[in-house]
Amino acid sequence: MSQPFVVDEMQEAVLESVRRFVADEILPVAADLDANADPEESFSWGIVEKSDAAGIRTMTLPEEWGGIGADYLTTGMVVEELAKGDIGISVVMAQTLKIAQIMMEALSEDQQQRFIPRFRDNPRGLLAIGITEPENGSNYFVHGDWSFNTRAEKVDGGWKINGMKHFVSNSNRANVFLLFVQTEKDNDLFSGSTCFILSNETPGFSLGQVHNKMGERLANNAEMIFQDCFVPDSDVVGEVGNGFQILADFFPASNAYAGASVLGNAVATYEMTLEWAKNRIQGGKPLIEHDGIRAQLAEMHMMLDVARTYIRKATWAADNRDKVPWDPALGALPKIYASQIAWQIATWAMEIHGGSGFMKEIGLEKRVRDAAAFLHSDGVNRTLFLKAANYLYKG
Ligand SMILES: Cc1cc2nc3c(=O)[nH]c(=O)nc-3n(C[C@H](O)[C@H](O)[C@H](O)COP(=O)(O)OP(=O)(O)OC[C@H]3O[C@@H](n4cnc5c(N)ncnc54)[C@H](O)[C@@H]3O)c2cc1C
Repeated sequence: MSQPFVVDEMQEAVLESVRRFVADEILPVAADLDANADPEESFSWGIVEKSDAAGIRTMTLPEEWGGIGADYLTTGMVVEELAKGDIGISVVMAQTLKIAQIMMEALSEDQQQRFIPRFRDNPRGLLAIGITEPENGSNYFVHGDWSFNTRAEKVDGGWKINGMKHFVSNSNRANVFLLFVQTEKDNDLFSGSTCFILSNETPGFSLGQVHNKMGERLANNAEMIFQDCFVPDSDVVGEVGNGFQILADFFPASNAYAGASVLGNAVATYEMTLEWAKNRIQGGKPLIEHDGIRAQLAEMHMMLDVARTYIRKATWAADNRDKVPWDPALGALPKIYASQIAWQIATWAMEIHGGSGFMKEIGLEKRVRDAAAFLHSDGVNRTLFLKAANYLYKG
């Protein structure tokens, strides 16, 4: 059983190849892609294709399906490493890697045969998950008397879907999707929604605007629009009306991967700041020789270490759910902690860089914008505290 705090030989080999990928394919182009005014131009198919060639894109598929069967712990490490290069690329990949893990567990054999090759055999194959709607964001984290506005009506041989999702990562780039819609209109979304699998070529499914984000720009987020979109009965994932069970059963590491993305960006921010403190001379000596700054750097180092430890605990626990009882708070809290310390580190890094931190040419301002991405993504932190509190105190 691999241990959460020890990187074994196999993991080290994977991480070394991801570090090379980051150095060769991401870092040289990330700032220029980020600077494009049009969000669609900030996305790079070239990076996706190279991630395929490096074996990253499909690494969570089992070996018999062409991957290396990366577990949650290893995948979290990879996501952190990718985010040291760019948080957007880490998100493009984290969504794909985690949805591939869900698909291997939640799809029927027939669904796997029809959808996995479509994703696997296309070097541009990406995955996305559509849950959030303009009227339903935090609602899917806390129980209540609400339901999705995107609805599926039963028709002969399948379901007709109408409505829209928004903010969905990869949705204008993916070729396979998991989609959560209301199928039982009198129930709330926890007891009356269903998960469907569909492709980008499903008639009646189209894309709306691509959101113009302040950070994490190398990933695209877009609206998904459904107009009498027919999905056959054979593409219902799990049971009708029980879609949320898919998330509960097969999504344990989603929050930790989100934490790993924001952590990787924070590590890169810290490393830039450490270098700056070693080289910038004020008051007759490098900044790092000033006690206050040196102590603050040590505090940043500690926060990163604690965030990583928490994320690894969560991914390790997700891998070992058959041996150790799963603590559902681990599905909500690690991302909160990582995004809070990342935001703190971003502001401290700005201070330590002085006025240069505010100037685009240094590159820190991109890291600060990127650090904001996960205060809301994968659940607003306040809502996730509420979700964890409900598990902890209400059962
Ligand atoms: C970069 C990014 C990527 C994303 N990717 C995806 C994706 O791939 N797929 C997807 O489906 N969605 C995605 N989302 C959507 C994301 O999950 C939602 O933005 C998030 O759940 C919050 O919903 P909201 O934006 O509607 O905020 P709201 O729900 O409107 O929340 C606004 C504020 O109200 C608070 N609040 C809301 N409800 C309560 C309550 N009951 N009690 C107390 N306070 C409350 C919240 O904490 C928050 O502070 C993404 C979002 C972002 C920013």
